[in-house]
Amino acid sequence: MNSAGPASAAFDDQPVLSFVVPCYNEAANIRALYERICAVMAACPETWECICVNDGSRDETLGALTALQDKDPRVRVIDLSRNFGKEAALTAGLDHARGAAAIPLDADLQDPPELIPELVAHWRAGYDVVNAVRLSREGESLVKRASAHAFYRIFNRISKVPIPEDTGDFRLLSRPVLDALRQLPERRRFMKGLFAWVGFRTTSVSYHRAPRQAGHTTWNYVRLWRFAMDGILSFSDAPLRVASYLGLAVSLLSFLYALNLLVQTLLFGNPVKGYPSLMVALLFLGGVQLMALGVIGEYLGRVYDESKGRPVYIIRHPLEADRRIAELPPSPANH
Ligand code: UDP
Ligand code: MG
Repeated sequence: MNSAGPASAAFDDQPVLSFVVPCYNEAANIRALYERICAVMAACPETWECICVNDGSRDETLGALTALQDKDPRVRVIDLSRNFGKEAALTAGLDHARGAAAIPLDADLQDPPELIPELVAHWRAGYDVVNAVRLSREGESLVKRASAHAFYRIFNRISKVPIPEDTGDFRLLSRPVLDALRQLPERRRFMKGLFAWVGFRTTSVSYHRAPRQAGHTTWNYVRLWRFAMDGILSFSDAPLRVASYLGLAVSLLSFLYALNLLVQTLLFGNPVKGYPSLMVALLFLGGVQLMALGVIGEYLGRVYDESKGRPVYIIRHPLEADRRIAELPPSPANH
């Protein structure tokens, strides 16, 4: 970024830490989050910036964010052109992080900023990734907790790269990790998987997850199911293999059944029975074939998505720093 006079001077100092906050309808939480970050960081020597990504919110989120940004140049707002989903919003924020390390935080204060000094201490001790592991998840239904628990275990059984259990996006990522993440070109971004895929020296700290401070979660079960499918299909080809093994098993069974029929016919003749068994075999095979086609379809759909090569997100507003530079009066030399 070039130096365009005093207005942009504050932006030229690279901060040590970049907090990345995806925000979708979080107007009621922004101020409290900012204040808690300020309170925690007042006691820390590290300089910081807070990148807030407005993910096409329909409430007053953008107004709340720009008000903060006008007051404190450490707050930087990225305004996406529509709702792209949390993974894309997080990607946008991480792409624009300028710090030596970045920490994604949920806007609803479920990820306590008070844990930041501990994450930073482990980073200072030489780790590149410091995961924050949830010991408990207050305020979340039993079904959600149970399904999350099952998801992590199933995922880790079939994925080539295991993801740490009970770990969300709240973690510290050092600059080399951020640079590695930017090299991953995929459009369907299952961030938890990508964080694990890039590797690096990793450690973890644990915390108790608080309930959402205000507003409602946008992750209903349908969305969670799609998210889980995205995760599994991006990191495992086991479902494709299940189809072929299932096919093999069914063929073997039908071969045995054919032998059985042959022997029965030879020994006892052929008293034209077998309509029920014919129907069962027909329906069963039809079902198996449709299922296998469906699995292939899921992968094909994702290949199609990737092949289009559309960007992961579109920014509606330029960053504040760029805007200020653009708004500066032309220098006399240009007259
Ligand atoms: N979020 C987002 N885009 C979306 C949905 C959610 O940026 O389309 C943000 C949201 O503002 C919050 C974070 O992602 O900061 C986590 O969302 P939420 O609290 O709804 O999820 P949960 O904690 O229930 O998993
Ligand atoms: Mg939440």
